[in-house]
Amino acid sequence: MPGFEIIDSLEKKEVSNIFERGKGVLFRHGFENIRNNSFKVEKFEKNFSNKFGSKYCLAVTSGTAALRVALAAKKIGPGDEVITQSFTFVATVEAIIESGAKPICTEIDETLNMCANDLKKKISKRTKAVIVVHMLGTPARLDLIKKICDQNKIILIEDTAWGIGAKFKDKYLGTIGDMGTFSFDFAKTITTGEGGMICFRNKKEYKSAKAWHDHGHENNPKVPRWEDTRSSGGFNFRMNELQGAVGIAQLKKFRKLYSKQSKNRKKIIEKIKRIKQIKIRDVPKNSTVAPESLIFSFNNKKLASKFRQKFSKKGYSTKILPEAITWHFAGKWKHIPELNLKKNHYFQKSNKILDKCVSIPIFYKMKKNFPDLVYEAIKETL
Ligand SMILES: *Cc1c(COP(=O)(O)O)cnc(C)c1O
Repeated sequence: MPGFEIIDSLEKKEVSNIFERGKGVLFRHGFENIRNNSFKVEKFEKNFSNKFGSKYCLAVTSGTAALRVALAAKKIGPGDEVITQSFTFVATVEAIIESGAKPICTEIDETLNMCANDLKKKISKRTKAVIVVHMLGTPARLDLIKKICDQNKIILIEDTAWGIGAKFKDKYLGTIGDMGTFSFDFAKTITTGEGGMICFRNKKEYKSAKAWHDHGHENNPKVPRWEDTRSSGGFNFRMNELQGAVGIAQLKKFRKLYSKQSKNRKKIIEKIKRIKQIKIRDVPKNSTVAPESLIFSFNNKKLASKFRQKFSKKGYSTKILPEAITWHFAGKWKHIPELNLKKNHYFQKSNKILDKCVSIPIFYKMKKNFPDLVYEAIKETL
């Protein structure tokens, strides 16, 4: 959320630099004789890689593209099944469908992320990958889920669109599974307008993803690009230099964003934690959260909707829950035939959990009285 709040002269300077030093080369590859060694996307990847401790990072055009490319890196396609969770953004399921594989969703547990027990039940002989989502900043139970994937030789992809900077046992989210994907759309923690990143544990997957996202180009240094070698097909999901430049600037602000948002989140928790009739979202042991949201639940759906009314009267909207649930819960996606939603009570367990929840957005520039407003809205609801 907050990256867009502090876009300023730093982003402008990085972008201008493409036109001044880089002579306006907007393409990530080639033009060496013109560009004066100005490579923004490459630098953004390197900086991302250093910051989050992943050896191989590939920038792409969006978080949705990042998921699609991750699946392509493992040649996942028709005949395969990919399991994700019921509570996520619709993009996770779209990327699976786009690959040709069949999407399967699990229920969530009290962390509001993938339920490990349900995952075990939904694995079949065709299951090739699991996309676990660290939805709205709180890590999934990665220890359990990774173990299940390892035992069944299934690829683990972390959809880290909301989890940037959060850790599970001292490792950054997105660097624990085989691959981790990030989004830099305008509502995410750091933004490049549109954009995404993939972190890989393994060089081989990185190399095939890098080629696939660029029509199969291997970027063979021995030949010019137009004679480039290839060993696979692909598509075009290349990030351009303008996005890369903004990414470099936003990444420099990441620490500042993270710590300010964490402080703001704590202030709200301090204010509301003694209210007995609400329950704050579970966080798995040995993990930290990305301070993107604060989710708590009431005793029932009615109270959650009432809170939304009270809170909006104070001039604020809630975030995703209950506000934009139809875009974020597979139980509502009757428009996606691949999910085969026929029964009325699909994802009953998830529905029951989510219905009672409210998500508060955490801003970088939080008004001083914001925690009081949250507190008052809860009190008025009860
Ligand atoms: C935002 C988001 C995406 C997609 O990212 P885009 O950059 O908007 O394409 C994927 N998964 C989740 C969970 C998201 O919230």
